[in-house]
Parts: sequence; C-alpha cells; structure tokens
Amino acid sequence: MAATTGEKRTRTNIFTLAPREEWKKVCLIELLDSATALVNIVTYHRCQAHFDDNQTRSDVWNAITKTEIRNRFRPVLGRAITDKMLDKCDEQWNAFFEQLDNYYDGERDDKPGVPGYWKDDDKRVLKACIRNDAYTVEWGEHSRIELALGSELKEKYGIPLNKRIRVPIKGNPQYDGHGGRLELVYDRSAESFTAKQPVTFLHDTTRATDSSDKGCVAAVDVGANNFVAVTTTNGHQRVFHARPLFDRFHHYTERIGELQSQLPAQTDSSRLVEKLYAKRTRHRNHAQDALVRHLTRLFSEWGVEKVFVGKLDDVREKHWSATVNEKTDLFWAHGRFRRRMQTVLEGQCGISVEEKSGAGTSSHCPRCDEEAHVSRNGDVFQCGGCGFEGHSDVVGSENFLQSMVDGDVDFTGRRPMARPVDSGRNGPERGHQTVPRLEWDDHCWRQRGHATKKEPTNQSTRKGNLASELGPA
Ligand SMILES: [Zn+2]
Repeated sequence: MAATTGEKRTRTNIFTLAPREEWKKVCLIELLDSATALVNIVTYHRCQAHFDDNQTRSDVWNAITKTEIRNRFRPVLGRAITDKMLDKCDEQWNAFFEQLDNYYDGERDDKPGVPGYWKDDDKRVLKACIRNDAYTVEWGEHSRIELALGSELKEKYGIPLNKRIRVPIKGNPQYDGHGGRLELVYDRSAESFTAKQPVTFLHDTTRATDSSDKGCVAAVDVGANNFVAVTTTNGHQRVFHARPLFDRFHHYTERIGELQSQLPAQTDSSRLVEKLYAKRTRHRNHAQDALVRHLTRLFSEWGVEKVFVGKLDDVREKHWSATVNEKTDLFWAHGRFRRRMQTVLEGQCGISVEEKSGAGTSSHCPRCDEEAHVSRNGDVFQCGGCGFEGHSDVVGSENFLQSMVDGDVDFTGRRPMARPVDSGRNGPERGHQTVPRLEWDDHCWRQRGHATKKEPTNQSTRKGNLASELGPA
C-alpha cells in the first residue's frame, strides 16, 4: 500500500477571527469569558483546599468535582471545550505539584506558587482551549472557522442546534496537516481574536510502505450489546459481532439451570452439569482467544503501539440486569480477556495494553458533541443535533478513543469520521456503513457479507436486539 512516510512535525498556524456581525463577536466573547470562568472557579476551590492544612492532596483535586463543573459549563461551552478546559486546569495543577515535590526533595530552591487566576489588570483574560473535534478550519475564497458551542449559547444567539457558529478568518496558514488543540484569545485593547492552531504533519519523502501508521493508538470497547468495537487514531475501525456467540453461551446456561433444578436435594452438581460448564467455557475461550489473535494481527498491520481496553464496570453500572451481568462476568470473562490481550499483545508484539474506564459511552454524538438530543435504540445511535446515525458500540469506541487520546485523533488519512460541513441538510448522515463487521463461525472471525461491500441494514439487528431484550429465545 502506498503511503506518505516521514518524520512527524508540529508547527503553529496563527490567524485572526473577523466576525462581521456584532452578535457573533459578543457570542465569542461570552464563550471565552465562560471558559476562563471555569478555570478560575477550579483554581479558587483548589487553592482553598490547598491552603487548608487539614486537607490532603486528593482533597485538593476533588475540591470541586468535574461533574459539578460539567453540569454548569457544558450548556454554554459544549462538551469538548468544557473537557478541554478541565484538562488545562489539571495540566497546571499537575505541573505545580510536580514542582512542589521537587522543592520538598531538595531538587529545586524556590517554592513554586499555586496556579494563578486567569486575570490581567483585574479583568478576566478571555481565552479558551478548543478540542480539535470542536472546530473546523477552511482556507479558501471564504476562509472560515466553525466552532461547536453549548446548546444554551446556541439558543441565546439563535444558532440552530445542528449548526456551529461560523466566523470568517484572516491570515496566512503556514502549515497544512492535522490540527490539534486550538487556543483562542481575545485582546480587549486591540479588539481582536487570535487563534493559535498547532498542526502536525508528515515531513518529506514518499515511500511504498505503511509506516506512516506507526505509533497509533487503538481503543477496544466491549459494548453492552455484545459487540467489540475497535477504533484507531489512524482511522481504522472494526466491529466484532458476538451476539450469536452469547446466545449459544446463554443456551448452555439455561440448560445447566434446568438440569440443576432436577437434581435430587443436597446435590448441587452432576457429571452432566460439570460437562456442560466445561463445554460452555471451552467454546467461549476458543472464540475469545481467536479474537485476541485476530486483533493482534490487525494491530501489527496498522502499526498500533498502544491499546486501551474498556473496563466493563462502566457497562454494568449503566445497564444493570441479570443478562448484562451474565454477559459481562461470565461470557466476556473480562479479566481473562484483558489478561490474554496483555500476554499476547505485550508479550509477543510489544504493544502495550491498558485498561481504562470511560468506555461504552454513546451518550454523546461523536460528530457534533450533542448530548441532549441523542438516542440509542439497540445498535442504532441517532443524533438529533446533526442527523448522524451510526452503530452505538462503534460510537462508544470512538468516544472512548477520543477521551483517551485527548482529542488528538488523526483522521487526515482515511477520514472515517469526516464531518461534512452541512451534514443534516441532505438527510441523515449514515455512519459506520463501511466499517467491516465480523462474526464468529466456530473457527475464526469472518467478515459478514463479504461478497457485498454494503452492510446489511440495521433492520435485522434491531429486531434481533428486541428479541434478546424480550428474553431468551
Ligand atoms: Zn451529532
């Protein structure tokens, strides 16, 4: 496969925003003002706790909870900017504690000061950090930036919920490539908005290899619907459809239950019951080991260096039921799955594996960040904000990856998550149709409907899901 290779470099594009309408200017200032307020509120609470001798360091971190901040600021800033600002606060406080430890260890002479308020001449600095999925920049005849805002701010300024605010930009972009976290500042005296956009790009040479993919990160999410969904930072995606496998597992469980109920009193097992247990486990392990091997092959091919595996506790908390429990504890045997991943990926391929919370979150739209107007019907995820429709578990893995890599997902290559500027105008955007879907055929994980490129419609899975929700077949 031909691909561009070379050294990765980061440079910064600087440009100005030139809103023509007064309301856009006011709206942007309000956005920046709220972002700064967020930082100052966090700083205030953490400082209070820090200077209180009875409080521990963990009290400082929890002086104000992220949930509290999110609830307060997401309506204005939207999810991506709120989270990015929280990251910014944590960066400052992490740096501070590190310096403080160095000071106590004698590696540093002066005692560091706590992170300061974002203020200048007693006025709030107007500044925000904007995650790369919360803005798009287009250079051309009508150069412009589009920013995601919270729903409250949109309503206040009459921006439709499925739109971003669009502002003309002026400048001369020096670098072309994948944009990272954008910093937007308003200068009160000059009355100007300045944006700094770090850009990562590949420098030089074109060779016929796939090594441009080197160093990418993958998120593996085990969804409550019995899908394993994978998304990588260089744009690869896969879905492993494990529901038929689970149905069989569940069939054994039921058979075992039946047999146990027929056992004479004081007997809790029989040879047949033991045999069925063993068989159930063997089938599950076989498919699971094959899945790990399959993933290993894909990850090596794609140049993955790090893998995040979702913790199943989250799934259980959100969707508790006896069946979900059976799925997560017994069927997925999640501890075993993760250990296998670690043994094979780390031991044999040097790919690191980390278990992290935060998986399975299809509570917001991966395209437009909308939270309030999304719905999940079994496998189908729909966003009322931008009209996007996709596979819920793939949405879960996209959001999981996004939260793990801090928004730095490089979709300049395959762009599975390309966001059409006017998505929604021409009917819903159907996502994930081209994501290969694999099923277990008792020997290996095989792509379903391989002959036809097109995915079967969601109809069948919708029905299948309904059936499994109604109870065991
Ligand atoms: Zn959306």
